[in-house]
Amino acid sequence: MNLDNKKPGKRPLYVYYIIAVVAILLLNILVLPSLQERSIEKTDYSTFLSNVDRGNVSTANIQSDYIYYVVRKNGVDTTCRTVRIEDPDLIKRLYAAGTAIVPEEPQKQSIILSLLLGYVVPIGIFILIGRWLSKKLMSSMGNGGPGGMMSFGKSNAKVYVKSSTGIKFSDVAGEDEAKELLTEIVDYLHNPHIYTEIGASMPKGALLVGPPGTGKTLLAKAVAGEAEVPFFSISGSEFVEMFVGMGAAKVRDLFKQANEKAPCIVFIDEIDTIGKKRDGAGFSGGNDEREQTLNQLLTEMDGFDGSKGVVILAATNRPDSLDPALLRPGRFDRRIPVELPDLQGREEILRVHAKKIKISDSVRFDEIAKAAAGASGAELANIVNEAALRAVRDGRKFATQPDFEESIEVVIAGYQKKNRVLSNKEKLIVSYHEIGHALVAAMQTDSAPVHKITIIPRTSGALGYTMQVDEKEHFLMSKEELENKIATFTGGRAAEELIFHSITTGASNDIEQATKIARAMISRYGMSDEFDMVAMENVSNQYLGGDASLTCSFETQTLLDKKVVELVRRQHEKALKILQDNIGKLHELAKYLYEHETITGDEFMKILEQPLPAVETSQPGELLGTEA
Ligand code: ADP
Ligand code: MG
Ligand code: ZN
Repeated sequence: MNLDNKKPGKRPLYVYYIIAVVAILLLNILVLPSLQERSIEKTDYSTFLSNVDRGNVSTANIQSDYIYYVVRKNGVDTTCRTVRIEDPDLIKRLYAAGTAIVPEEPQKQSIILSLLLGYVVPIGIFILIGRWLSKKLMSSMGNGGPGGMMSFGKSNAKVYVKSSTGIKFSDVAGEDEAKELLTEIVDYLHNPHIYTEIGASMPKGALLVGPPGTGKTLLAKAVAGEAEVPFFSISGSEFVEMFVGMGAAKVRDLFKQANEKAPCIVFIDEIDTIGKKRDGAGFSGGNDEREQTLNQLLTEMDGFDGSKGVVILAATNRPDSLDPALLRPGRFDRRIPVELPDLQGREEILRVHAKKIKISDSVRFDEIAKAAAGASGAELANIVNEAALRAVRDGRKFATQPDFEESIEVVIAGYQKKNRVLSNKEKLIVSYHEIGHALVAAMQTDSAPVHKITIIPRTSGALGYTMQVDEKEHFLMSKEELENKIATFTGGRAAEELIFHSITTGASNDIEQATKIARAMISRYGMSDEFDMVAMENVSNQYLGGDASLTCSFETQTLLDKKVVELVRRQHEKALKILQDNIGKLHELAKYLYEHETITGDEFMKILEQPLPAVETSQPGELLGTEA
């Protein structure tokens, strides 16, 4: 079943026009003349003259280039043609032979034929194509039925019956809570009497809420696969129409169809496109259309009888932008959170998708899941696919553990860009920068251990990166952990300052991250003495990066900014001190990274724990050889 409501590929209009024009041209050039000519016999001038002299020519028609004449042979008239040659005696000869000199075209029949083929047929073809096109246009706007104009404004919602998606709940890994809530709905649709006997009525609508790529659409498809009732699916954007009132008409039609087919499920994907908060009187017509559509949706939801068994599912990743009226009891009053998967969920999702590819037995899904912290279901699916692609690229038949590890990096940090060549000086700076991060992280308690450091540039623009992987998941972060995180982010720049006494643009992403954490600590997590537990920012759009909006006075904002700077500076100084105290290790590790380009967490810890070599690798310039 195709829940995406895709229409079959359509050729653009102009293609049909081109075909029509070419057809007419061909008709005129090839078919017509040959039809005309076929019945005319071509002769040379002397044959013509001898026929005239013998008295066989009954009529002659002298045109500018040709002479058409009719010869009577054995009682049969044949039309012939010959070229016209400047011949002053001709008229006399014709006259003498008793040939009638006629002014008309040689063959009346062929004129009618040429009119027919040259004008009437092409025009007819044009009219037919036009009618057919307009019919197609109608059906793509309306319902596709033969009603033409009458079906204008019918919805595209298609009826999908039974499990033709082939997608079941077992294809959705993790998300147990969401599955449980949805199973209840499926169950109700199968056995409504169990619920009605006890007096319970199902919620009319359930809203799947969660970040992009967590499997909301997939879950809805799985409901369709599990429930043996008709399933109507439409995406919010399909309600947005060119003409005012069309969206509302579609909603009306959708619910009319659903009511006829009850019990059934109606699924509205990306409902935020129509369900955005209504703002007061707007001047733009676009808003008006959306508002009408939303109002119609609300009216329909109120209007139908819940006990009939129509359940409405909707999905969105911006619940906070939805109109409150949609979330009122009796409408989408049940929220089904579909969150980013946890460690176990990630492992399960990886396993579900890995079933589709060939993998070696040594692949450790728990390790991969651990390294892919924060990845969504869609990203994990992507990681599995990337691993398979990598295996193919390397000519292997199975995906292996390194394939998966590399594909995590690809999905997180972009592809390795082997052909981007850093100068040796740049490479050295990047080495110290990355080791700076890693060393600061390693020297603090409560920060995630280093998993891998690399200075191979990525397509995303990162010149190198340090990957930290938490041993286990955690959901609460202490103030110290957050501070350590900030210190780790500043560690890259701190190493540059310490070794090269100059700073580069390489730390821009670190700066952004550090600022974000510091700001949130003070404005939202109540982790400063000055502001106690007072929130200074509200976060909207929680699943899409989170736009913070300030809720404090201008003076407080100024103070907040000052506190953020102080907090980051303190951590920056801490990082500098850590690196200063371990400068020998900084040099040793940076040298290793410079030479090997990649260092694993184990190698890193081994070097960190072994005593410093007797000969100190003190000056970075030594590594650069002649270039420095
Ligand atoms: P959403 O609608 O929440 O943005 P989708 O349902 O479109 O996300 O998910 C995109 C893809 O990600 C799915 O087709 C599936 O391959 C994969 N995916 C996401 N979540 C899961 C999951 N929990 N289990 C298995 N695959 C998942
Ligand atoms: Mg979706
Ligand atoms: Zn950095």
